[in-house]
Amino acid sequence: MVTRGLQVMMVFHSEDPSWKIVHRHMQTAFPLVDGQNLSRSSGSRDVMDINLTEVVELTRQLIRIDTSNPPGNEAPAMRHLGAYLSQWGIDVEYVEVEPGRPNLFARLRGAGNSGHLAFSGHMDVVPPGNVPWDHDPFAADLVGTRIVGRGATDMKGGVAAMAVALTTLARAGFRPAADVILAVSVGEEVLGPGARHMVATRALAGSRYLVVGEPTALNVCIAQKGATRWNVTAHGVAAHASTPHLGASAVRYAAKAVLALEACPYPFTPHALLGEPTVTITNLQSASAFNVVPDICTFTAVVRTVPGMDPVELDRWTRTVLTDLAQETGGRIRAETEFRAGIPAVETQPDHPLVAAVVGAVTAATTRTPASRSLSAVLAILR
Ligand SMILES: [Zn+2]
Repeated sequence: MVTRGLQVMMVFHSEDPSWKIVHRHMQTAFPLVDGQNLSRSSGSRDVMDINLTEVVELTRQLIRIDTSNPPGNEAPAMRHLGAYLSQWGIDVEYVEVEPGRPNLFARLRGAGNSGHLAFSGHMDVVPPGNVPWDHDPFAADLVGTRIVGRGATDMKGGVAAMAVALTTLARAGFRPAADVILAVSVGEEVLGPGARHMVATRALAGSRYLVVGEPTALNVCIAQKGATRWNVTAHGVAAHASTPHLGASAVRYAAKAVLALEACPYPFTPHALLGEPTVTITNLQSASAFNVVPDICTFTAVVRTVPGMDPVELDRWTRTVLTDLAQETGGRIRAETEFRAGIPAVETQPDHPLVAAVVGAVTAATTRTPASRSLSAVLAILR
């Protein structure tokens, strides 16, 4: 995809302290410097000319450094990227997240102390798997107009495009009104320790926008569902299967709970892009002899939320549903509920100037107008 000089990007719009997310594509977001908050303070439009060959070669170089996660081993690739950036005078900082696993921050200094534009990517890739590849996944072969290799799209191509964007600005002597930052994280494919570290340390404080170079098939994505889940353990009363009335089946309780939760008892307003929330029950397990009323059953309830749904409020609803069902058993069933991953849904308004700027950038680069889509919609396209 990088051979077209384009990367799909997701954009976060921050209104500190909470982040709002916009996902989108764009070439490099350079038109943003003409925008409301990153007005051009020096330089010329020539800075928008990106050297495509440079993007392709940097992408291939990064692919050839195996950063399969686990374990990640991002450091050599981070150092390679850092060396490329610093040769053009860009400030590069490595921040160790775990031993031998540094996040990278590159910063083109602007005139102001806030309103920064941050580009975000991750350096790790998912392992190539056991299915044989037609090409060595770490050779980065050029096949026609495509680069074939693990991470070409997700997302060393994106990282390379953003890095070349930064150096192109630097080489042109461009000084933006606010900083342009490239933040590359470790471990995105497994639990995201790099991104979590950035949030915990407020590493991108002062940034107003975050453009993420994840693949979205060149669609501009401005909203994403949230993720909330609960691990539930139901404790019942064991009994011989010939006398079930003496027991309290944890499986029967779980079956009722599954249906009650999948009916989505939560209040919500359908979202224009994301539609309705979904509830999915996963990991349902029990263990008992074939002739014993099961006294334990565990499952996970996963709710993908739309904007306006508060994870804490959802937790209250979930517990109410589970408690009410337990009470129907006369207290013979007890449910333990563990609340996990309360990540809220996020969105940026489609008429936001940044959205218009990015859509304009994609249009200019692709001669087509990308639709604003949710990430879910994009994933549907990719399938
Ligand atoms: Zn990715």
